[in-house]
Amino acid sequence: MRRAELFRLDGLNALVTGANTGIGQAIAVGLSQYGAQVTCLARRDCDETLALIKNHSDFGRAVCADVSDQPACRSIISDGPVFDILVNNAGVIKRSSSESATEEDWDRVIDTNLKSTFFLSQVFGRNLLDAGKPGKIINIASVLAFQGGIGVASYAASKHGMVGLTRSMSNDWAAHGINVNAIAPGYIQTNNTAALQADVERSNAILQRIPAGRWGRPDDLIGASVFLASPASNYVHGSVLTVDGGWLAR
Ligand code: NAP
Repeated sequence: MRRAELFRLDGLNALVTGANTGIGQAIAVGLSQYGAQVTCLARRDCDETLALIKNHSDFGRAVCADVSDQPACRSIISDGPVFDILVNNAGVIKRSSSESATEEDWDRVIDTNLKSTFFLSQVFGRNLLDAGKPGKIINIASVLAFQGGIGVASYAASKHGMVGLTRSMSNDWAAHGINVNAIAPGYIQTNNTAALQADVERSNAILQRIPAGRWGRPDDLIGASVFLASPASNYVHGSVLTVDGGWLAR
């Protein structure tokens, strides 16, 4: 393979969940800039993301679905093109102390972040195995896959679980040419961290601890996701790539 092709995604079909805002939007646009044909999934419309994709690509598609609706997601994957790349990015966070967290919030977070990742990956993987094709799964975990965080027990549990899932599924499918890896973002300026950013004391404390000296931006995630979606990562299985400005190294 020529060096220039290592990071090319031309002709590959990618499905990115949670692609209407933040990290998912940046990854959807980034993958399409490297040649992928991207389908964006979210509960609300992805018009803004599609407009950004249209700046450089003729292909851009969106589907509205809840990732915890397993039958709907199964048919999106089974009825569409055979997807080569799946980015499990959709996620929610519920902030509350461990003594006051509710079962409803726990279920919502675990269902959206963890259970949906497994079952979307399962139907994606089955399609590839049936077609005898290789593929790439990229799970968007978090630095809270390695740390407990403060007041985010269900979220930390879901992200720790995503790393276990990443390793386990990669063992099952590596021999079939399906790479399952994860990215662990640090503190990125998105809706997900709006409450933290608004809390001046917490926000400054976080900033002081980031060796890079700034919060991350959604487009900081593009390089890692293009790498894990591309032939450059063909021998990378079960890895977690941190994109955190050095947070975990500290
Ligand atoms: P965000 O802007 O709130 O994006 C979350 C996305 O997930 C939205 O597109 C949302 O769209 C979608 N989503 C949520 N629940 C869904 C569901 N049930 N079905 C389908 N889509 C759903 O936050 P973000 O920061 O970009 O988060 C993206 C991912 O990065 C999450 O997994 C998050 O845990 C992870 N992450 C973020 C940070 C950070 O600092 N921001 C750090 C580490 C990890 P709809 O509401 O329209 O469905």
